[in-house]
Amino acid sequence: MTENQIQAGSSVESQCKKCKTVTDHHVVVMSGEKIAKVECKVCNARHAYVSPTAEPKVKKPATPRPKKAALASTKQALALAEQWEKLVTPCAKPLTYSMERTFQIGDVIDHPTFGLGYVQKLMKPCTAEIQFKDAIRNMRCGTFK
Ligand SMILES: [Zn+2]
Repeated sequence: MTENQIQAGSSVESQCKKCKTVTDHHVVVMSGEKIAKVECKVCNARHAYVSPTAEPKVKKPATPRPKKAALASTKQALALAEQWEKLVTPCAKPLTYSMERTFQIGDVIDHPTFGLGYVQKLMKPCTAEIQFKDAIRNMRCGTFK
């Protein structure tokens, strides 16, 4: 049957870029069984055939990615624990932590609550930044110069 046969001169619906909508077009050029070029009956523009059901080429809004903050913080915690282990493991005699005690960078201390910690920074006059297994904490320590 030739009911749906389209040839040059046939009327077809196509999207028209000028009209920015689907309009009636004349087929101008056929390419095999496909419509190659059409002429808009409204604005007379000739252009490639664009199926009226074709999706308009609109950029999809970027789908927001699920935030990986939770995962990142887990990774960070793991990295911290790993680093901590490397820092405290070589130390055979950790110093018992006391607020009056002065420490040096590189000291490993033993805290009654937080466990082993590595002194990685000293802040005058009496704060030590200590890396524990789960977190880095600023601890009170003896005044140093
Ligand atoms: Zn048009």
